[in-house]
Amino acid sequence: MSEELLRERIVSFVNSTLLSTSGVPVGAETPLFERGALDSLQVLDLIAFVESETGRPLPDSAIRLTNFRTASAIAATVFHADGAVRPSRDRIWSRTRSRRTSSSALVPDLEREILRWGQELGAREVLPEPAIATAALARAGYLESFPGRAVFPRSAVDATGRQAIPPAACLQCYAELADRGLDAAPLVLSVRNHCAGGDEAVDADHGRLREFTMREIVIIGSANDVDRARRALMRRAQTYVARLDLSATIEVATDPFHIPADRGKLALQRLRALKYELRMPVRGQPVAVASFNYHEDFFGRAFGITLPDGTLAHTACVAFGLERWQLALHDQLDESSDLARTA
Ligand code: AMP
Ligand code: ZN
Repeated sequence: MSEELLRERIVSFVNSTLLSTSGVPVGAETPLFERGALDSLQVLDLIAFVESETGRPLPDSAIRLTNFRTASAIAATVFHADGAVRPSRDRIWSRTRSRRTSSSALVPDLEREILRWGQELGAREVLPEPAIATAALARAGYLESFPGRAVFPRSAVDATGRQAIPPAACLQCYAELADRGLDAAPLVLSVRNHCAGGDEAVDADHGRLREFTMREIVIIGSANDVDRARRALMRRAQTYVARLDLSATIEVATDPFHIPADRGKLALQRLRALKYELRMPVRGQPVAVASFNYHEDFFGRAFGITLPDGTLAHTACVAFGLERWQLALHDQLDESSDLARTA
């Protein structure tokens, strides 16, 4: 990629994606921040866009107002910071990367990255209880839409059925905020929990596990806030897999995220792209390693969560299945490095 092309791509991204509904179109030399054309979430979108175009993370030291003043300045920074940029699909670069990388310790590394992505959005880390109140699952519509799927702990924690193992880590966040008005929005939370009762069929070979670990970033705010944060996080994840030179796809999913869905709703979900999945091969079959869910005001309504202006909160969650990452990373990185060693 040339500097000119990157400059053009940035101008068109700012105009068509960031300023699509408001604002006067910008050119390569238009100051992007002086008149408040872009806000802080859009800056993240812009950084993630540049990183996904070039296939490399921008060092924190490069993220300064002088470097980001105009589209021209951004392209120049990327090209002159430390030598010429190589495009993300540069074969030579890819091959040397994958030979050196092994999957060991990459899941903890991914978790640190996710925490950092959350922090960029102002996330607070919350520590949920290991079990969720069954009443909260009922309130979320989970018991009704997935009958027989809830998993109850048989340990000393509770044998009465009042507590269940959460099917997703984000549900306790909504339950915690139930019947409350937020003082400020968006509210962003980072959360991790041990989960069970996810996908119906269990097929450990392909990463469909009875119990698994979910790390999530949860966003509660206006439709605009949560959509923007979800897109920024999708780009962060794309850049991460590009950096490790992993084969992965992002697709619109049709299976319901943890809310009720009949056929009509599923069709709508697909049309409106409410759920995207990041998929990677495990033993030759694509599995979802992360999902990017926009629930509209479903949980806001179910749990009575309102925004400072009194309207119902919209929510989105970005959920990473950590065991699946371990399986997928092992499949791609360790096998290719084994091949490289025998070659
Ligand atoms: P969901 O949004 O409920 O589809 O789940 C979010 C993520 O959790 C998925 O993309 C998977 O990575 C992971 N996950 C969900 N169900 C399972 C399961 N049965 N076994 C392993 N990982 C799972
Ligand atoms: Zn979730």
